[in-house]
Amino acid sequence: MNPINSVTGPLSAGQLGRTLMHEHFLFGYCGYQGDVTLGGFREEEYTQACLKAVEDARAYGIQTIVDATTNECGRNVRFLKKIADMTGMNIICSTGFYFEAESSYAYWNFRKGFADIQEEIYEMMMTEITKGIDGTDIKAGVIKLASSYNEITPMEEIFFKAAARVQKETGVVIITHTQQGTMGPQQADLLISNGANPKKIAIGHMCGNTSVYYQTEVLKRGVYVNFDRFGLEGDLFHTPTDNERMDVIKALIDKGYGSRILLGHDSVNVNLGRPIIMNDFMKEALKDANIRTIGAKVLPGLAARGLSDPQINSLLEDNPMALFA
Ligand SMILES: [Zn+2]
Repeated sequence: MNPINSVTGPLSAGQLGRTLMHEHFLFGYCGYQGDVTLGGFREEEYTQACLKAVEDARAYGIQTIVDATTNECGRNVRFLKKIADMTGMNIICSTGFYFEAESSYAYWNFRKGFADIQEEIYEMMMTEITKGIDGTDIKAGVIKLASSYNEITPMEEIFFKAAARVQKETGVVIITHTQQGTMGPQQADLLISNGANPKKIAIGHMCGNTSVYYQTEVLKRGVYVNFDRFGLEGDLFHTPTDNERMDVIKALIDKGYGSRILLGHDSVNVNLGRPIIMNDFMKEALKDANIRTIGAKVLPGLAARGLSDPQINSLLEDNPMALFA
């Protein structure tokens, strides 16, 4: 059995415990790197925010957090290792790039003129999973992939193909971003047809879609679905409400899919660059957008829908363990 890479070293599946499958300790919208003079890295402030996030997650038994920040959006493995060392929380980091509109593909578009970029992306992911990231021996524990709204662009497809090959050769887990829950079946098909193992794939942001039919179309492919945006509600995020998401989970469990649902918030604990200005719109939009929401709202909400403690615990503990095992 392959070890699971955390930022502080290998883990066995039995060490994962309750696991949040998609969070961000640090995240920066591409371009933040250019505002370094007024929005530079504030180590002490960020450390305090991340320590608080770990404490909040631990309050409802979380032992492992998968950090889904991609390479170009502020992934910082030295910082993640520092937080893991200070707290004992298992943190698993990603390798990969974000979806086209919010990524920075100029680099790869330039290289495309003289290099085989699918091969180069494969090498990048392989090296980060098997050797280390950015001169450290800290290894990525998941591949993060992303596609656009109602489309997988040609450049995004290159990342999917490279990732499928890495998955096949290493057994690593793949997590994805779907834009508002679209392209789930297509993501699964693209990965599986290129050799990836469906049992190691979690199609992400599926809670952006309330159609049980659509969910089962994805689940039929043998993959996991990640309900990983709890707490993000309303116009800013174009998403269903948490109550609607919980209704879908209940319906899927009733259909026998309880062993293939995962949970998370897509919380951003630190926005890189200048601080967000909390006007009334942002205050309302972000009121539940934090790592406490599953403990405070979702676990009681699922219990109120008649789910048993073991059924609920499967979502947080047994299912991540099976995905990573
Ligand atoms: Zn995310």
